[in-house]
Amino acid sequence: MNAAAKHSQAMHFHARAGEKVRNPALQRALQKARPLFVGKRQKGLASLAEDGLDFTNLRSTAENIRNRVLADLDVWLELFEERATASGAEVMWARDGDEVARLVVEIAQKHGVRKVTKSKSMLSEEARLNEALSAAGIRPVETDLGEYIVQLAGEPPSHIIAPAVHKSIGEVEALFAEEHGRPQQARTSADIPAMAREAREVLRQHFLSADMGISGANFLIAETGSAALVTNEGNGRMVTTLPRVHVVVTGIEKLLPTLEDFATLMRLLPRSATGQSISNYVSLLTGTRARDVGALTPGPSPAGRGEMGAPLHDGQVPEGPEKTVFILVDNGRANLLGSAYQDMLRCIRCGACMNHCPVYFSLGGHAYGWVYPGPMGSVLTPLYTGIENALDLPHASTGCGHCADVCPVGIPLPSLMHRLKEEQLARGLRPWSERLALRVWAWVAGRPRLYRWLTRRVARYLDWLADGTGRIRIFGLAPAWTAERDLPVAAGKTFHELYAAQKRK
Ligand code: SF4
Repeated sequence: MNAAAKHSQAMHFHARAGEKVRNPALQRALQKARPLFVGKRQKGLASLAEDGLDFTNLRSTAENIRNRVLADLDVWLELFEERATASGAEVMWARDGDEVARLVVEIAQKHGVRKVTKSKSMLSEEARLNEALSAAGIRPVETDLGEYIVQLAGEPPSHIIAPAVHKSIGEVEALFAEEHGRPQQARTSADIPAMAREAREVLRQHFLSADMGISGANFLIAETGSAALVTNEGNGRMVTTLPRVHVVVTGIEKLLPTLEDFATLMRLLPRSATGQSISNYVSLLTGTRARDVGALTPGPSPAGRGEMGAPLHDGQVPEGPEKTVFILVDNGRANLLGSAYQDMLRCIRCGACMNHCPVYFSLGGHAYGWVYPGPMGSVLTPLYTGIENALDLPHASTGCGHCADVCPVGIPLPSLMHRLKEEQLARGLRPWSERLALRVWAWVAGRPRLYRWLTRRVARYLDWLADGTGRIRIFGLAPAWTAERDLPVAAGKTFHELYAAQKRK
């Protein structure tokens, strides 16, 4: 079993999905969030059109940029290492999550670190970094608001860009009251700004006292040896510029050749994620000194002791860390290069596929059992943790294809899930009943007259089960299909019958 699979719960997807569907608080939170994500992306794409840009063209440019990187990943990685090292950073390599955790703990111990502030990083979830730091007596503090909430709850994130999307205001209030040592109050959505301010005040003390900051990177820029960080909260800059040591933990596939490529991807990433034409904070972190590229976006004060998000004064540059280390992580990525699944490495972690996925919004992210939820997780989890360790995930799809339509880098998610399903069958990993059913189906489908006769009977049978209601409540032959939901009835006639009737008209 590989290191990633050790902590995966993806094999229990079915059971976990059942629990999530029956959780009314979770269902309320998810149903509230879904239209927000979808509506925001629509607005984001409309703003592209206002700028005279076309999503389809831009997507194909982005796809080409990402493909170009993947075609020569070793070359771009070497260039990145050379440029990052020349600017004063250290570059380290990690084969898997365990190695990431070991390296980070060693760096922390070498620099006498007792507290670490963290900006959102899904790779640190792959490496279970918080556990490793805590075990070594080092306190990790998540500083992205959503991550802070899930850390208090002792849970992993349930969405890659909105980690606490599954939490209600009441649940967050209970966590804050306990952690901040105050009585619990009745809260409504009008109180959200006050609650955010309260968290910010608590986190400020951590920013000022942390010895090391850990962040991910949305992209690595090969030509400058920089990490690009795209966030909506000022915490990213606090984490990367205030502590003495800054460690960037990110996957080897996150490279972009040039800053111009970064600018192209930035037209798509925020719009696909949150619908914004640009995120609040866009930072390029190079070497041992953090450089602010967002003239319009405020950063921390140079001494790092001012109000969070206070603007820089003219000519001031954040001090930045004394030591910057990039840990570039494989954890299964290199295996995908040159494979039938290489397209998946184009992913820029925007979250659009899950924001448009009916399965994700019926279950939430925790049902998926590992770091990445939704359609991208249904492909990535089996690939990173082993196909045999996540058998249900490629089947967690309605086949609607919406995920592929919205993906800003053109990843054919439904085809990749289909390929994984084929591989499961080829390796004999599906239950015998399913394999037998498929063999019978293939046998029948190869005999047209029998196929037509049988499908006519099945169509009538389904119509009879629906009993004029249009929905099948209990489907005896495959009870799992109707255990948690109604099955929409078919047309009552086969396609051949409908086609013949149409021709006769
Ligand atoms: S697969 Fe596509 S849509 Fe999903 S997170 Fe990755 S880039 Fe975004």
